[in-house]
Amino acid sequence: MKNTSNNEIGELTAILKARDFTREATINCVPVQLEQYLEKLNIRLVINKELSYTQAGRVITLPDQRIIIEVNGNDSNERQRFTVLHEMAHIVLALPSNHVSMTTTAGLYTYTKRPEEEILCDIFAAECLFPREYFKPDVNNTDPCMEAVDDLAKQYQASLTATASRYAANTDELCASVLSENGIIRYVSMSRVLREKGFWVPVGTPAPQKTQLEKRLSDQSNDIFAEVPAHYWTNHDSFAGRMLCEESIVLDMWNQALSLLWFEDDIPIQQTQRRQYDEDDELLPELDGQLPWPSRRKRK
Ligand SMILES: [Zn+2]
Repeated sequence: MKNTSNNEIGELTAILKARDFTREATINCVPVQLEQYLEKLNIRLVINKELSYTQAGRVITLPDQRIIIEVNGNDSNERQRFTVLHEMAHIVLALPSNHVSMTTTAGLYTYTKRPEEEILCDIFAAECLFPREYFKPDVNNTDPCMEAVDDLAKQYQASLTATASRYAANTDELCASVLSENGIIRYVSMSRVLREKGFWVPVGTPAPQKTQLEKRLSDQSNDIFAEVPAHYWTNHDSFAGRMLCEESIVLDMWNQALSLLWFEDDIPIQQTQRRQYDEDDELLPELDGQLPWPSRRKRK
């Protein structure tokens, strides 16, 4: 478990600022119209096909202080949208860009050596791309599965990986999304209810053995779906003897793979486990957006 409370406050702030920004830009439909965000900041967008494939975008400040965001016109529409919002995040959050004046594509879309401020800008961008008032009802109209995530990705004009992460964070089901890169788990997002049960997948560790993810990565299976014992993924006692549903796909970029995990049935939780969890949970960010802070767990 992370133990860096400053960063977590930072994540919450990034989300709240993104929500303010979405309101101020009068976003009123999905897919969100980038023009409304750009107008709010008085920024001009230039789609540049001359940028090399390694360059996702950049911010240019003109001598008269006007700002231009340049985005790589050779990237997919979904990627361009995320890049533009990421660049706007640097401006709104007043975070220095760690990619100097040029955002490299690998720097923006892989998880290797991502500095903290870059992650905060990603969080901001994701919140702008999936405004909660639209996204949460849409998510809860579906049952967890990769197909539902894919449909929403198309609806919101976003990448599958970004959509899966926000899907897991917003659903009221027991659900998690796991992004791995080069066989190492790099990013885990999960629903509030699943987190409350104590579910935990450690970041920075190899794909767990015998999971569908591991089988896909090692070419032992072509199946996307499998029902696997929950303890393959997590060692928390609450899940002993339980099965979970897993869908894992290998992506064609960056040596990444995406897994969606969910439980079909509710998991009873023992009182002792809940108490232990509550203490730890004070440190966790409210990334699922159940505001206001502090969370409802404290009312008990
Ligand atoms: Zn950046």
